[in-house]
Amino acid sequence: MCKSEILRNTYVCPECKTFYCLKCSTALTDSENVCWICNTPFDESKPSKTLKEEVEGKEEKDVDIIDDSKTLNKM
Ligand SMILES: [Zn+2]
Ligand SMILES: [Zn+2]
Repeated sequence: MCKSEILRNTYVCPECKTFYCLKCSTALTDSENVCWICNTPFDESKPSKTLKEEVEGKEEKDVDIIDDSKTLNKM
């Protein structure tokens, strides 16, 4: 997020091509571990908020599917 600080050691988000200096990328992987712009996980070996949210979202979807099948059985 600090474009004036781009040096040799930079990280570029593969999704949105946002540049991060080493300081910012290290700070991000140590905390949220996701891109500030597109929420793409930086280091997949570390836990990230985005992955947790995706798992919770899938669980909700499974519940919806079960509800649909119950509705069909009633008909
Ligand atoms: Zn990004
Ligand atoms: Zn920076």
